[in-house]
Amino acid sequence: MAFVDLHLHSRYSDGTYAPEEVAAQARRYELAAIALTDHDSVEGCADAERACRALGVEFVVGIELTAEQEGNELHILGYGFDPQNARLLMEIARFQEVRQNRIREMVERLNRIKVPLAVDAVFALANCRAPGRPHVARALVAAGLCRNLDEAFERFLKKHRPAWVPKFKMSGEKALELIHQAGGVAVLAHPGLNHTDEVIPGMVAAGLDGIECFHTKHSTTTAEYYLQLADRFNLLVTGGSDCHGMSKGKPLIGSVKVPYQHLEQLKARAAQIRATGGRK
Ligand code: AMP
Ligand code: ZN
Ligand code: FE
Ligand code: FE
Repeated sequence: MAFVDLHLHSRYSDGTYAPEEVAAQARRYELAAIALTDHDSVEGCADAERACRALGVEFVVGIELTAEQEGNELHILGYGFDPQNARLLMEIARFQEVRQNRIREMVERLNRIKVPLAVDAVFALANCRAPGRPHVARALVAAGLCRNLDEAFERFLKKHRPAWVPKFKMSGEKALELIHQAGGVAVLAHPGLNHTDEVIPGMVAAGLDGIECFHTKHSTTTAEYYLQLADRFNLLVTGGSDCHGMSKGKPLIGSVKVPYQHLEQLKARAAQIRATGGRK
């Protein structure tokens, strides 16, 4: 039986592994294929693809976008799109700028309550264009201002805590359109985590291609539930570990078993989307 992991982060967003290390871990866990799905970045894809090719692991281009629909935060995974697509790259650059400004604002808020974190320390540690709250948390720990990441989130970074800054989010429909126009497949990430089932019918009407049924934080019951939902709405099924390397304690790659057949169907849909110029 061949397995895939279609949800992995590298150091180009808030993971800790270089793309080559992600590929090496995939080989170690004998995965047949992986997708790199960094937040608002495709920068790691070229290196990951090269490393995967050398190791005999199939590689799928991916991304994770943050969107909002009916007041809910949604994560939308894109797969198999053209990573050179001009509009996609332009929009990603904007999201990255929003992320960098948000870091500045979070640090300003920390400084205002006398937490002496330097913004440059966060950017140096993040060392990527798509920094996020986990980088601020890691910088707080590195500066000795918090004991661990949990403390950083609990005291400062969680929603409605003193350094929390809301993030601009595009609509779910726009995320779908952006991925489709670049020739990719759009999948709702970890719905069990965001408690966003009520948006699914509307997203399906807007062109959603699939849902992530298998995820580290989905129980067997949750996965079963979303498999049934995928069946009912005629959606693709995907899954992955959402591994962030060491940044969330332990590496999760290899912990979620997704049968290869789901990738086969995803690739067929991607070919269909490309054949119709992004329209389904
Ligand atoms: P951002 O996109 O910048 O808002 O950051 C979201 C990231 O922070 C996600 O990868 C979350 O898993 C992570 N995160 C959120 N809450 C916590 C927490 N309490 N402890 C550790 N990581 C968290
Ligand atoms: Zn993340
Ligand atoms: Fe996510
Ligand atoms: Fe993720």
